[in-house]
This record gives sequence, C-alpha cells and structure tokens, in this order.
Amino acid sequence: MRAVHWFRNDLRLGDNTALASACARAEELVPLFVVDPRLFGADRDSDRTPAKRLNFLLESLAELAGALERAGCPLIVRVGDPVVEVARVVDETGADLLTFNRDTSPYARRRDLAVAAAARRRGAAVDDRKDRVVFESDEVRTKSGGPFQVYTPYLRTWRAELHRRPLEAPSRPRLPRPLAGVVSHPLPPRIPVDGEPIAKGGASAARRRLGRFAGESIDRYAERRDLPAVDGTSLLSPHLRLGTISIRDCVRAAEEARRRLGADADGPRKWLDELVWREFYAALLAEHPRVLGGAFRREYDEVRWNDDETGFEAWCGGRTGYPIVDAAMRQLVRTGWMHNRARMIAASFLVKDLLIDWRRGEEFFLRHLVDGDPASNNGGWQWAASTGTDAQPYFRIFNPIAQGERFDAEGIYVRRFVPELRGVPDRFVHRPWQAPAPPADYPPPIVDHAERRIAAVARFEAARRG
Ligand code: FAD
Repeated sequence: MRAVHWFRNDLRLGDNTALASACARAEELVPLFVVDPRLFGADRDSDRTPAKRLNFLLESLAELAGALERAGCPLIVRVGDPVVEVARVVDETGADLLTFNRDTSPYARRRDLAVAAAARRRGAAVDDRKDRVVFESDEVRTKSGGPFQVYTPYLRTWRAELHRRPLEAPSRPRLPRPLAGVVSHPLPPRIPVDGEPIAKGGASAARRRLGRFAGESIDRYAERRDLPAVDGTSLLSPHLRLGTISIRDCVRAAEEARRRLGADADGPRKWLDELVWREFYAALLAEHPRVLGGAFRREYDEVRWNDDETGFEAWCGGRTGYPIVDAAMRQLVRTGWMHNRARMIAASFLVKDLLIDWRRGEEFFLRHLVDGDPASNNGGWQWAASTGTDAQPYFRIFNPIAQGERFDAEGIYVRRFVPELRGVPDRFVHRPWQAPAPPADYPPPIVDHAERRIAAVARFEAARRG
C-alpha cells in the first residue's frame, strides 16, 4: 500500500496517531505538508498569517523535515490551497491511502471534508484520526447523552473517562520507505519581526520544555500560575497549537508527576485541569460552531457596545493608562504570547471598561497570539465578556488596579513591559497617576473604572431585559 500522510497541526513523528496508522499499513509513504496562506489565521476573513506564528511554524517544519530526512523519508512541501494540492499529490503518486489527524474548527472541518472527498474520488481510502484531544466531544457526555455546557461536571466526567480508558504508551513508528521522484518545494523563508519570540518551535524544544516544566515547576504550578512576572506555567500552548507535542504526552507527564509528588499534590492536578479546559472549549466549538460569530448566551448579542476607535487603539497599543492592561497588551504584541491572568484582565478591560464588542478583541488576540486557537480564544473571550457558557458573571468585574496589586504586587511584570513605569515607587506602580511625580511619558487612565463598571452592569441588564 502507498500512503500520503498530510501533516497539519501535528508536526512531530512520535505519538502521532494518523501517522502511526499510515506507517502500520503502508509499504511506501509520502509525508506531505501544504503551505496554505490561510493556515493559522482566524476562521473568518483572515488571509494573513501573523509573522511570529508563521516563524514558529517554519521552525517546527524545518525540524520535522530534518527528522524525516534522517529517517530516510523526506518531507514533501507544496504551496497552495490544500484541497487542490493534496488531491494533486494523491493523483501524482497513485496513493491508495490518505491519512490525517482531525481538527475541530469549522474552517478545518469544511476543508477536510473537501480534501477527503477529492481523495476518495481519486480512489484513495481516507483514514482520519483523533489526535489533538484526549477525548472528542462525543466521548464526554452528560447522563442523558448530550454535550456538557458547564466545565466542572465536564471535568469530572473527563477524569472518569480517563480512569476507565487509560492512555496507551506513545507510538514511535518505523517509517516505511519513501516514494521517489515526488516534486517538493522549498519552505518559505522566515519573516524578520520586531520583538523577541516567546518560544522556539519544533518537537525537541517542546519535549525539553515539557521535561523541564514537569520536572522542576509543576509542583508549584497551583501557587504560581496566576503570577504573570513568574515563569510558572508550561508555555506549551504554541506547541499544543501546532502539535509539536502531543496532548497525551502532556497528560502522561501530569500523571507521572502526580505519582511522584503524591495524589494530593495540587500542581499536577491543577495543570491537568487546564489541559481539560482546552478540551472543553474544543468540544464546545465542535458542538456550537455559531460561537465564533456571536454570544453563546444569545441574549448578550443585544448588549449595546461603544463605537470607540480611540479606546480600541489605546488598548491595542498598551496606552490605556492602566499599567497591568498595558503590560499585557505590549507583551502580546512584542512576544506573540500573553500570560493567562493578563489575558483575563486585558479582555475584561476591553469589554467592561471600554464597553467595546468582545469580538474585536478576540480577533486582535487571534491575529497576534502564536498559540492563537479559535476554540480556546473564543472560550476565553466569552468567559471574560460574560457571554459564554460557564462564564464570569456580568456583575463581577475585574478592577484592573486591584488585579495588578494582587497578582503583580511588586510591579515586576508591568515594569518589564512598560518601561515608563520603571522609576515609579512600588506603592504607585499600578496607579501611577497618584504618584508624587507621575511619569510624563505615560498616559493617565483613559476611563474611570468605577463609572464604567456601573455602565457595564447597566448595559448587560438592559440586554437581559430584552
Ligand atoms: P499552562 O498554564 O501551562 O496550561 C497548560 C495548557 O493548558 C496550555 O498550554 C493550554 O493548552 C491549556 N490551557 C490553559 N489554560 C487554558 C484555558 N483557560 N483555556 C483553554 N486552554 C487552556 N489558549 C490558547 O491555547 N490559545 C488561545 O488562543 C487562547 N486565547 C485565550 C484568550 C483569552 C481571552 C483567555 C482568557 C485565555 C486564552 N487562552 C488561550 C487560554 C490560556 O490563556 C493559554 O492557554 C495559556 O495562557 C497558555 O500558557 P501556558 O501554555 O503556559 O499554559
């Protein structure tokens, strides 16, 4: 048998479900990657691939290509629309099998249906596998068989399912021989970008990061995960996004740490809970693709938003006058990543303080995040905007000063990204306008939080009344 394995968000050889299936079934293999200009953009209207994300992808692909080359089965690269290019490779090679790992975003599902149909028309069988998640949405159900809408019971059922069906040992496939003479294009060059990248791409960097996190930091994850100045989280999100590490390797590492540290250890348990948030949001998007365009709770589609271009620009540029919000936004633009606590604060500020439609923020994040993922990003935004399932209630509004003082008490994070605040004493670092000598080059707050809080609650209540 001759197989084409189409790599997408699974850029690794080890523990790769569909690749293992191809290797087990075929005598000849064509490992394929199609450079799609739309690849890691938003599902809607995004034809541009952000530079930091593209570079992370290119680094990861270069490593994958090297590993395949060493294994004697070089990567074939094509550029263009995957529906056309995958079918063309199936045609050219006379493959009888096409394998790929499933993706749940609406754009990916539409594309994959079209690719699979085109491959079948050419006589190839299609083998698509679960790989991006431990459990797909139809495997974690309520007692009545429906999808969950609340995280905590979902988590309980997810854990019970894992207990019932423990993970198998990772597959390390032996690659079949390559098919000679298949045309391959060079990978596009890296794009020069400003600012430092948050993580190095590639499966070996991912394994190192997981090893270090699980070996040295996971035990303190529960107490440090909310501190944006501390390197206390795994920083694996870009790797999970592109599949340079498998979700199962992460879960195995959490379980292994739990055995080592004891069943009561908070760190590994809490970290596993976060991995389950990712699956919860993936399942939610698979069940309710409409959340990419509107509120999960439809009544909040009626919230009246401000048309405030100046406010939006100040937020994007980290010039709102609220230090923790500005540090968060500058971290995003400079590095392509933002700490989770900072994401919650920055998102809340856009929606509840600037009263700007959460979808504008969702789009901005997706464009800049190296880990930008339609499901997790939408879930995070709808959580912060109080429009989602199991979201922050609309009347519980983050105070950006209190959040800064609580989670960045010494101002280390804000000073790292907002150099204008370096000379401001600790006491005033989250309220610099009250300092004896406020920094001249840093703006005063663009809105009054107390006033906007009241306005936000009123807008949500008006929407609820209909
Ligand atoms: P860790 O704390 O080490 O967690 C391990 C892994 O668990 C993460 O890599 C991620 O895959 C998953 N995870 C952790 N927290 C969450 C969560 N709240 N929701 C879903 N998965 C989670 N995450 C993305 O991967 N892509 C996004 O586009 C994205 N957008 C977000 C937007 C907003 C407004 C918010 C509030 C959160 C968003 N998140 C997103 C979730 C979270 O902020 C990141 O996953 C996390 O900060 C990544 O850092 P880490 O790998 O060090 O996480």
